[in-house]
Amino acid sequence: GKNGVPVAENFRLEQSTIADMIQAGQVRVRTLYLSVDPYMRCRMNEDTGSDYLLPWQLSEVADGGGIGVVEESKHDNLAKGDFVTSFSWPWQTVAILDGSLLQKLVPQLVNGRLSYFLGAAGITGLTALLGIKEKGHVTAGANQTMVVSGAAGACGSLAGQIGRLEGCSRVVGIAGTDEKCSILVQEMGFDAAINYKKGNVAEQLRELCPGGVDVYFDNVGGDISDTVISQMNQNSHIILCGQISQYNKDVPYPPPLPPDIEKIQKERNITRERFLVLNYMDKQEASILQLCQWIQEGKLKVRETVVEGLANIGAAFQSMMNGGNIGKQIVSVSK
Ligand code: NAP
Repeated sequence: GKNGVPVAENFRLEQSTIADMIQAGQVRVRTLYLSVDPYMRCRMNEDTGSDYLLPWQLSEVADGGGIGVVEESKHDNLAKGDFVTSFSWPWQTVAILDGSLLQKLVPQLVNGRLSYFLGAAGITGLTALLGIKEKGHVTAGANQTMVVSGAAGACGSLAGQIGRLEGCSRVVGIAGTDEKCSILVQEMGFDAAINYKKGNVAEQLRELCPGGVDVYFDNVGGDISDTVISQMNQNSHIILCGQISQYNKDVPYPPPLPPDIEKIQKERNITRERFLVLNYMDKQEASILQLCQWIQEGKLKVRETVVEGLANIGAAFQSMMNGGNIGKQIVSVSK
C-alpha cells in the first residue's frame, strides 16, 4: 500500500532451479553483493510515481543494483572470473543474464573493495558528486556553508565530504543518532553534526551556521528541510536529492513545500530544482574515475553497513529505511 511502512516480511526467499545451459550472448553469474536503496520503496507501489522506475511484481524476483562474478560465459567480451555489475540485478544467488546488459568492473580502482561499486564508486557516489556539481553552485573561496540532511547515509556521508573537496568552507550534517554525528565529525571531516532526534534543530542550526546556509543537500524533505530552508541565504541553492521522510506517504514527488516555506524560498530566490542522477550518465565515466581517485588518495572516507545472506535482504531494507545503516547498506550474498 502507498502509505505502508515496509517490513522484512514483505519479502520471501524461495528455492528454485535455473537452466543447465546458457545461450549465445548470455553469462551465468554468482551474486556477490546487492544494494538496498530508498527508491525501492517506490517500486513497492503499483504506480511508482516515476516513468524511469518499474514496480516490482508480486511473487516475482525483485531486482536492483548488484555485483557478481562470471562463472560461465557465452558472451564475446566477458570471461569466467570477470566481475560485473548491473542496475537491475535479480535478487538471486545465481543467475543467467544477458551479457550485453552488464558492465565489467576493475577491482584495482577501489583497492579491491568491490562493494564500493554499489556505493561510493557507483550510483551513490555519482549522485553526491553530480548533485553538487549540477545543482550546488559551489565555488571554491566563496566561503559557503553547506548543510546535509540524511548526512550519515550513503549519499549524505559522501555529499558532505565532496562539498568540502569542491570548496565549501563549512559543512554541517543532520543525522538520527549521536554515533552517526560523531562519525561525521571525527571520521568524515564535517565541522559539526546535529542529531535531529534530540533537542531543537532550528536553534542548533542557527548556532552552527551563523552566516546562514548557502547550499543544502536535501536527502530527507519534511520538517527537517523546512527548518533548514528557513535559515537559507538569499540566492542560495537546494540540491533536491531525495525526500525519504515522505516515501511512505501518498504524496507527489517532489512534495510541495508548506506555503510559509515556499514563500521564503521564492522571496530569497532559493533554487530547488529536481535532480535525478540518471539524467547525467554522460558524465558517469569521468565522475567514477574522480571518485575512485579520491578513495585511493584517502580524501573520501567510505563507510558501509554489511548484512550477510540473501535471506536477510528484506530485513536489511527495513533497517536502512529506519536509519539502521551508517554509510551504504550492502547485502553480501556469497564470498
Ligand atoms: P541512506 O541515506 O543511506 O539511508 C536512508 C537514511 O535516511 C536512513 O539511514 C535514515 O538515517 C534516514 N531517514 C529515514 N527516514 C527518515 C526520516 N523520516 N527523516 C529523516 N531521515 C530519515 O540512503 P541513500 O541511498 O543515501 O539515499 C538518500 C536519499 O537520496 C534518498 O532520499 C534517496 O531516494 C535519494 N537518492 C536520490 C538519487 C537521485 O538521483 N536524485 C539517487 C540516489 C538516492 P537517520 O538515522 O539519519 O534518520
